[in-house]
Amino acid sequence: MKKKIKREKISLVVPCYNEEESLPILYKELVRIAKEMKDEDFEFLFINDGSKDNTLKIIKDLVKQDERVRFVSFSRNFGKEAGIYAGLENATGDYVAIMDADMQDPPSMVKKMYQDIIEEGYDCVALYSPKHKDYGIVRRFFTNLWYIIIGKISSTPQIPGARDFRLMKRKMVDAIVDMKEYNRYSKGIFSFVGFNTKWIEYEIQNRAAGTSKFNFWKLFKYALEGILAFSTTPLVLSAIIGLIFCLIAFISIIIIIVKTLLFGDPVGGWPSLACMIMFVSGVQLFFLGVFGMYMSKLYLEVKKRPIYIPSETEKDLKEKKEEKND
Ligand code: UDP
Ligand code: MG
Repeated sequence: MKKKIKREKISLVVPCYNEEESLPILYKELVRIAKEMKDEDFEFLFINDGSKDNTLKIIKDLVKQDERVRFVSFSRNFGKEAGIYAGLENATGDYVAIMDADMQDPPSMVKKMYQDIIEEGYDCVALYSPKHKDYGIVRRFFTNLWYIIIGKISSTPQIPGARDFRLMKRKMVDAIVDMKEYNRYSKGIFSFVGFNTKWIEYEIQNRAAGTSKFNFWKLFKYALEGILAFSTTPLVLSAIIGLIFCLIAFISIIIIIVKTLLFGDPVGGWPSLACMIMFVSGVQLFFLGVFGMYMSKLYLEVKKRPIYIPSETEKDLKEKKEEKND
């Protein structure tokens, strides 16, 4: 009897926020890849992150014409990190890839990524791109600075230029879904769960259509998230700086006592004193802020709020259709 070989299923997860222009281009490309990889089954899982344009309508139209298409639509915009989580949680494939909707991560790479996992025995193939065509000088400078800082203060390694674009085996996906933290920084989480990852360098493409959803402020908050979620060094730093200041104060006291005993004149040096008070209270306030940031993360974590709230999935669409037919 001929042995039936199990067909592997690959889920392609795409977080989408106002991507009505990119989606048709992306879908065409996904269909092309699935056609090329005939021996594997595919699932295209779109996460609609509270888009305000026609994204959801386009996805629903795709569901109607292609049964490989699935979606989860959020009740509002929860951010890309929530989109990634929802995608990994709902994907049913033996392998799961995450990719942007704008074709900046060329979907055609999936074939090579899959081959590398199968032939070379990796658990995950991830992409990084040291250069980013869309970025201006300022954004590039701060991005590089951030990688230097996080490299020094976090024990979870971060690859400079790493994208969220990656293909993972089911066991890695399950490990990530098990990490249910509310403040999510996926690049750190991917690195934290470990597994044997192959890094491929590639040249990032320009957006197929539409504009970037990340402005400078959003990126700044994202960078801060990365530090707060994967390093406690700022807290240790505050203790060290506090200790150094105590030491300086102690030495200064001894110098002043000795000086007063030898030469008299304990008063004097008011301007420098005023400056020192300002400086020290500035440092104290800064670290109070650092404490506050960690505490606010803790506060949100303790509340155990959901990472995302779904309002509709492809199942609702299909149920509605069945009701109509009855
Ligand atoms: N995205 C999302 N929710 C958001 C912002 C972005 O799901 O709140 C998606 C977006 O639709 C895209 C991906 O995340 O598929 C990357 O976004 P974008 O291309 O705007 O970021 P950039 O490539 O400029 O870093
Ligand atoms: Mg992009």
